[in-house]
Amino acid sequence: MAAPIKICTLRSCAIYSTIKRCPKHTHLYKHCRQSSTQENLKGVIGLEIHAQINTKCKLFSASSTAFGAPTNSQVSIFDAALPGTLPVLNSECVRAGVKTAIALKSKINKISKFDRKHYFYADLPQGYQITQQRQPLAVGGEVEYILIDEQNRYILKTARITQLQLEQDSGRSLHDEEGGQSLIDLNRAGIGLMEIVTEPDFINGIDCSSFVREVQLMMRQLKVCLGSFREGALRIDANISVHRPGEPFGVRSEVKNLGSLKDLKNAVDYEVNRQKHLVKNGGTVINETRTFDSESGKTIPMRDKERLQDYRFMPEPNLPPLYLYDNVSIAESSQANVTNVDEEIQKMPPLPRDVREKLINDFNVALRDVYVLVNEDKGVEFFHEVVNCSKSPPNFVAKFIVNDLLGIYNEHDQKIRRSPISPDIIAEIVDLKKSGYTTKSHCLQLVEMYLHQSTPDRPKDIVDRNGWQQIIDVELLRPVCIQIIEDNPNQVKKYCKGKQDRAMHFFVARAMDSTQKKGNPAVLKSLFIELLEDIKLKQK
Ligand code: ADP
Ligand code: MG
Repeated sequence: MAAPIKICTLRSCAIYSTIKRCPKHTHLYKHCRQSSTQENLKGVIGLEIHAQINTKCKLFSASSTAFGAPTNSQVSIFDAALPGTLPVLNSECVRAGVKTAIALKSKINKISKFDRKHYFYADLPQGYQITQQRQPLAVGGEVEYILIDEQNRYILKTARITQLQLEQDSGRSLHDEEGGQSLIDLNRAGIGLMEIVTEPDFINGIDCSSFVREVQLMMRQLKVCLGSFREGALRIDANISVHRPGEPFGVRSEVKNLGSLKDLKNAVDYEVNRQKHLVKNGGTVINETRTFDSESGKTIPMRDKERLQDYRFMPEPNLPPLYLYDNVSIAESSQANVTNVDEEIQKMPPLPRDVREKLINDFNVALRDVYVLVNEDKGVEFFHEVVNCSKSPPNFVAKFIVNDLLGIYNEHDQKIRRSPISPDIIAEIVDLKKSGYTTKSHCLQLVEMYLHQSTPDRPKDIVDRNGWQQIIDVELLRPVCIQIIEDNPNQVKKYCKGKQDRAMHFFVARAMDSTQKKGNPAVLKSLFIELLEDIKLKQK
């Protein structure tokens, strides 16, 4: 048998099928399945994230960036592009870009440059956007994130970053359909944006939204972007194509301005399917700009196709190159207020990936529970508070919060962020469960009780007062099981005929009822097995 060919599993690596060894992605090699051309079409997606920088002033002017101000009340003469006005770079925006680039593990360019990107649109009074095209603030990098795959497994994945650039936001057009007019609000014009461009490393909608969620958490932690889709602080463009692994990339369409993680996921999945269908039926994908209609769940071509648009990029003559410094070069600098990259590295707070690593390595928490805790607002903080009050192992605490507590909170529209039950009460309930003092059912009942009434009583007092101590004594439970078996001959028949799982589920549930949820389910199950196997033997 021929040795399997090694290929890079990254679909983005177009050269793997020909040279068999991609020098760029060595760590991602995997044994290849055979002929790749026979494989089905797969989605290939690259993202552009536009993140509004969380600063008081705009990128090149002193106007406020506050959200929700009256229309056109935050517009300096520069933002309105009055002739003769000049840009002044906001160093806070630069610092935010540097912090983000460090978190993305990007290579920060010590010298970056600004360019003009020309296009004609009413919400862009200058007639061009100041962006960074030739030499952006940072290039390369990678982000690790947790992905739930098609088999519902939680896996760690890494996506590559192409670059991070600083640029201006545009104004906002408001279309008055009835009056047939377009109105322009320039409050947003000139707010600093970070555009984060990725390599085409994603395969479907959930992959894209998991990645963006990670970047959103990261930016919130750094306080560089508020990360709210609703307020337009995050907007995503998704570049989507399909191809057969091993073949060159297909032609892509670009779905613009996706305004929520749900829209991103749905738009990508819809567009991948649309393109697959098209190609399978002999059609061709055209390079076009599309928009997503969340109501119908479909992507539709935009009227202003950007095909072959010439942006006439040119260096921005009114801004000098942007210089960044580190500890070594800072001594040589004559400027006082410069951005020192080394200093920013020192000041980095723990990022979501650090929090995750700590939960996995130091507390042995399962990846699925880590995923839920990190994604839940204040979930990790709450976990630590419970762990500090509890005698149970941290991974047991995490399981209880994720599986039991959050289940009940979700049902009652409660949030961990404003938990109505204090961490020390939760810790005591967890310990009652762990020690086997009471059953899981009664632990859940305790949570419900604390949720609905305030009481000074401790959980153990409530258990004692109600007589909810778990029964694990086999001899106490045996008569209960014998009685249930006698009362349910049909279920016994089922068990003997091989439908063990179903019958067992029935018996244990009955026994739990008979013991007012006090019987230990594991002890009950083994008792039932013992008694029923005995009956089975006798029948033979
Ligand atoms: P443009 O500047 O025209 O938008 P870029 O080449 O800079 O194009 O790519 C922008 C985004 O498109 C990047 O995220 C990149 O990964 C993605 N991309 C490029 N080619 C493809 C493709 N064939 N399929 C999917 N995404 C792609
Ligand atoms: Mg683009």
